[in-house]
Amino acid sequence: MDTLKSETSGVALVNTWSGLPAAQRPDWPDPAALHRVTEELAGAPPLVFADECDRLRDRLAAVARGEALLLQGGDCAETFAQASADSVHRKLTTMMQMAAVLTYAASVPVVKVGRLAGQYAKPRSQPVETRDGVTLPTYRGDAVNGFDFTAEARVPDPERLLRMYRASSSTLNAVRAFTARGHAGLSQVHEWNRDFIAGSPLRGTYETIAAGIDRALHFMRATGARPDHFDDAEFYVSHEGLLLDYEGPLTRRDPRTGRVHAASGHMLWIGERTRDLDGAHVEYFSRIDNPIGVKLGPTATPDTVLRLIDRLDPDGEPGRLTFVVRLGADRVRDVLPDLVEKATASGARVAWVCDPMHGNTMEAPSGHKTRRFDDILAEVRGFFEVHRALGTHAGGIHVELTGDDVTECVGGGHDLGFPDLFDRYESACDPRLNRGQSLDLAFLVAEFLHG
Ligand code: PEP
Ligand code: MN
Repeated sequence: MDTLKSETSGVALVNTWSGLPAAQRPDWPDPAALHRVTEELAGAPPLVFADECDRLRDRLAAVARGEALLLQGGDCAETFAQASADSVHRKLTTMMQMAAVLTYAASVPVVKVGRLAGQYAKPRSQPVETRDGVTLPTYRGDAVNGFDFTAEARVPDPERLLRMYRASSSTLNAVRAFTARGHAGLSQVHEWNRDFIAGSPLRGTYETIAAGIDRALHFMRATGARPDHFDDAEFYVSHEGLLLDYEGPLTRRDPRTGRVHAASGHMLWIGERTRDLDGAHVEYFSRIDNPIGVKLGPTATPDTVLRLIDRLDPDGEPGRLTFVVRLGADRVRDVLPDLVEKATASGARVAWVCDPMHGNTMEAPSGHKTRRFDDILAEVRGFFEVHRALGTHAGGIHVELTGDDVTECVGGGHDLGFPDLFDRYESACDPRLNRGQSLDLAFLVAEFLHG
């Protein structure tokens, strides 16, 4: 307990950001209530520890060097209501299954990082939303206000930051329990993939990969290696570090080393809407030692990329900075090469990861926000091809997914159509790949990686 107490807590530690403009900051109605909440967060135990964050930084250094892939995935927006152990378990197993396929295809380790245990705040393009002539503040994630379309629910409530802390804590507890159990050896994960293939209309396409994995497992067993005992369970958590009223107080300094970490998650990223070089987010992120990501949309220029590197990874340390590019299937081939080339020429040693979701959002005839599976796959393919042509490393994928059988994206192995969106559209924000579509993506990416 002493070590928990002796971790120096945060608000005063890292507050160089507090006078700077913080885009997307909620209009908290009651400063005194916000102050009580931040005080409580500042005294709360860290959710993650510095040594865990450092280990992930090492893993991501391998990604940056071209020796590993990153698989980052989870909900667009976690909700307090859906933070059940079962739903966490289904996300973990889905990602383990994807990772097994990608590991085989790429012949490198796959680092698994959830959008999990902290992904409760959403940046929004519009501050208000109008329905049937009624205009209300937009929903900004369970960390800020309620999803229900009522004036009462939509008022930002800082008490929700404490609920975010508690929901993150119990989600992380479930992650730690599942992974400590280490129940999912490679053979088990492959069995689950076999079950998935057996029920898939695309089983013919996937069979080559699955048979290859069968042979690899036989080979391992024949050599005396025991795939069931492989520690496949290392799993990290990440979220967008959007709410500095939450991140600031949850920042901790290690008294032994003097280093400062965000204690809310192993990896944090800056979203496309908050990566202003003069803004509070970039300043805060420049002060923490966690591995960090920055999203890059189609407006990103090589100059912006170089300045972000300068601010966030001035020492050029592999593992520190990951660019998560989300350009859209139709733009990735035009926009990405210049960004990667200029960054590489500058001597930067960042990792590049593809988010094929956020540049491919569209509206279905029903008004549902959706994405086409084929666009998602096309962007990933474009991303890998650009890197192949440049001789740089395509470091992995960042996807919005769930382990449940929701119907939010169209296409995939079972070829969901627009009418299916009425069945199980459960996302509080952006449409996620369901379990089957996530595995489809892993197998189809594996197919082109494997050649
Ligand atoms: C997200 O990851 O949910 C998100 C909002 O992404 P971006 O910042 O890239 O728009
Ligand atoms: Mn999203």
